[in-house]
Amino acid sequence: ADQQPLWRNTPDLWTPALRMPTASGHKFDRGHAIVLGGGASHTGAARMTAMAALRAGAGLVTLLSPGSAMMVNAAHLTAVMLQRCDDAEQLTMLLSDDRLNAAAIGPGFGIGAAARDCALALLGAERKVVLDADALTSFQASPEALFGALGGKGDCVLTPHGGEFARLFPDIAAREAAKPAKARAAAQRAGAVVVLKGADTVIAAPDGRAAVNATGTSWLATAGSGDVLGGIILGQLASGVPAFEAACAGVWMHGRAAELFGPGLIAEDLPGLLPAVLRELV
Ligand code: AMP
Ligand code: MG
Repeated sequence: ADQQPLWRNTPDLWTPALRMPTASGHKFDRGHAIVLGGGASHTGAARMTAMAALRAGAGLVTLLSPGSAMMVNAAHLTAVMLQRCDDAEQLTMLLSDDRLNAAAIGPGFGIGAAARDCALALLGAERKVVLDADALTSFQASPEALFGALGGKGDCVLTPHGGEFARLFPDIAAREAAKPAKARAAAQRAGAVVVLKGADTVIAAPDGRAAVNATGTSWLATAGSGDVLGGIILGQLASGVPAFEAACAGVWMHGRAAELFGPGLIAEDLPGLLPAVLRELV
């Protein structure tokens, strides 16, 4: 895989794969994304993911919330829809609606068995999934269970920052190797697209494709920034963009939004900047 070229993440890599609303299109043609939210003490992360997915192109986004967080989520949502979901069993029932075509789990979800069970339910139901944050850390002691469920199809996206990457791929993280080689090795092992985040984010696919991002500013080092990135990628997946292109486009757009905003950026500013980013592309 390391013989393959390392691309620079520029729009020509993925603009042909982007999906725009069509003249006669229906919102369901643009995909119905779900975001799994966590408990009442940390609800903002999943709401930012959901809002970003809607701005990025999903036709509908539903936040799935445990009962304890329903009221606070309801008070803070408008275009994003809300549905109660307390565990993996209820999630599996909801997934009988096959229009729910893509999902994100991780931001503010909480670490533990519930995160693992819900992630495995999503993967078992063959949805395109963005796994981030707590959903990655929850598999720290059993990464093979996650990689097995990903099934080597390369249609899901893992978005670890350096710390999450080291928890899931400790031996790869410890190698004397450059970031692209580490991301490629991780993508191959996981059977998923890996977005290894940081100032110089690398996107790698299990088949060896890899790109280094160049958009963004250091103002992206702010709480919730990665949660928005996951949502942008989710929006692309829901609308039908393949995983590698979805991840590359999402990382580029996230960085470009930060550039357009300039100093003083906080994460919740990012979704509202996506229209200006999209105007540059289409
Ligand atoms: P997270 O740590 O999950 O909140 O993700 C942080 C997001 O901000 C990722 O998309 C990083 O690539 C990005 N980021 C963090 N620090 C920087 C930086 N110094 N320059 C550019 N992007 C950054
Ligand atoms: Mg994060």
